[in-house]
Amino acid sequence: MDVQPWYFMMEKHTHKAFTNEKGIAIGPYSYDEYVERVKSFHGAVAPGVAIGGFMVDLALRNLPKGEFFDAVCETRACLPDAVQLLTPCTIGNGWLRIINLGRYAVTLYEKFGGEGVRVFVDPGKLEAWPEIDAWFFKRKSKEEQDIDLLMTEIREAGARYCGIQKVQLTSRFTRAERRGDFSICPICMESYPVADGGICRACQGDANYYVTESEDLRKDTEAPGLKKVPLEEAVGLKVLHDMTQIVPGQEKGPAFKRDHRISPGDLCRLQQMGRKNIYTMETGPEESEWVHEDRAALAFAKAMAGEGITFTETPAEGKADLLAERDGLLVVDEKGLEAFNTVSGVMCASRHN
Ligand SMILES: [Zn+2]
Repeated sequence: MDVQPWYFMMEKHTHKAFTNEKGIAIGPYSYDEYVERVKSFHGAVAPGVAIGGFMVDLALRNLPKGEFFDAVCETRACLPDAVQLLTPCTIGNGWLRIINLGRYAVTLYEKFGGEGVRVFVDPGKLEAWPEIDAWFFKRKSKEEQDIDLLMTEIREAGARYCGIQKVQLTSRFTRAERRGDFSICPICMESYPVADGGICRACQGDANYYVTESEDLRKDTEAPGLKKVPLEEAVGLKVLHDMTQIVPGQEKGPAFKRDHRISPGDLCRLQQMGRKNIYTMETGPEESEWVHEDRAALAFAKAMAGEGITFTETPAEGKADLLAERDGLLVVDEKGLEAFNTVSGVMCASRHN
């Protein structure tokens, strides 16, 4: 027997709260049952989850036919919990996704074809419910808010201040295109979707929400042994790295080479280059955990040069060139090149294969 889920059998296009024998209904629950569930799931009776309940209910009643659907919320606040309470879609099973556009809107859609409905709060219709209007636009402080009046209005309004539109989801949201291969990231050695590139998104620089004990916060601080000296105190110091001056229309090159000792006459030019500070090293480079950019470039060049390739032995400005040792056909390890180029702070430019 072809069993249709309960929501397909309900009245369509009704913005008024749907009622059944239990009174006002949200999904399979009475309004009061739903509010109880919100309490235990969300931690409190949040007005946003109550409003979200009516929105999800409206979307469910207008869903196109189809057995499976996915959800997208356009806000992180409250609304995702209404989806998780009323549908099988959760963040954990991947059927609910949040695209944080900051709008109070939810879309439910048939997951294979992408046909769906989007329900949103329509501020133009909020006039009839001043307490909801004030809450929605955060016009009242928590103390000024009359929570009982607000909840009464929410209960009475149902989804009447909501807009609804038919939408077609783009292909990246439909199930057929979602599955992808997983691989091991060569940097962190954890698994990640291959579609993200040669290395995982965290190693591409998106993992800035934590540091580990061994990493500490060095990235944001000065390198050990490095000291920033204001330009006016820099006379007599040795330049630590090549400094480039770019003159439009002319070839750029190092204006100051490493180990150049700064003379009073250099200050004006350094100022023109926009330098306010000079880096100097208090301890010898041997004692530092840091590697000079030229040494790093040389190490990369050594590792990258394959058969028939040679490289500049004395990199400058943190750059080494890879050169053909003989005539032949250039073959690039594209995966390796892509992985290298997604690491922040380094770049390898190459000719095509
Ligand atoms: Zn990684």
